[in-house]
Amino acid sequence: MKEERIELVRRISEMGYIKTEKVRKAMEKVPREEFLPASNRPYAYVDQPLPIGEGQTISAPHMVAMICEILSLEEGMKVLEIGTGFGYNAAVVAEIIGPTGHLYSIERINSLAETAKDNLKRTGYAENVTVILGDGTKGYPEKMPFDRIYGTASAPKLPEPLEEQLKIDGILLIPVGEHRYMQELIVITRKSEDKYEKKSIGGVAFVPMIGEHGWPEKKL
Ligand code: SAM
Repeated sequence: MKEERIELVRRISEMGYIKTEKVRKAMEKVPREEFLPASNRPYAYVDQPLPIGEGQTISAPHMVAMICEILSLEEGMKVLEIGTGFGYNAAVVAEIIGPTGHLYSIERINSLAETAKDNLKRTGYAENVTVILGDGTKGYPEKMPFDRIYGTASAPKLPEPLEEQLKIDGILLIPVGEHRYMQELIVITRKSEDKYEKKSIGGVAFVPMIGEHGWPEKKL
């Protein structure tokens, strides 16, 4: 599958989603097939989200590349992910931030969190990724402040606790919007203790972020 992976990375680079050597190398290295249920492994290098069970999906490779590029990840960073799924995006981030960095990744569905832990262990990323079962809309105050925070599910509005868990110069990326099938990808940079710069990158479609500062479970 390595050849298919290299070919997919070449195509998404050509499309402009991959801009830096570190993201290209990480995407070429992390085996996406290891983060899929067996029935979907043959499609690992199709550039699409795929079902992972519990009504959830693994993100499309171009989206993972785009998230990593926007976050400008550096070695040694402390990062928070909301929405582990099966752990693929987590592994790509872990590859970029390296052994001196650490990713805390929160997942609200137990069976997904457990599978992600197994997948990350098998592929060698368990040391610098901690998977936490919980509601990521509250962030993870135990380990704040973070260099980077990103959500792989969409909230109706920006979950309040997240901004204040960023370091100064930290970046928060999250899909936000009230529409079920189309949201805006918002990027927030913390400029000082109380100043945040916000911009929209464009339209995206993510599964809902369900929790205290996200969508209520019963309305879906
Ligand atoms: N990061 C994943 C990947 O690498 O493919 C994508 C996961 S999927 C698109 C989004 C995930 O967010 C789902 O697994 C869902 O259960 C999870 N999720 C939704 N609301 C959440 C919340 N409040 N806290 C943590 N996880 C949440």
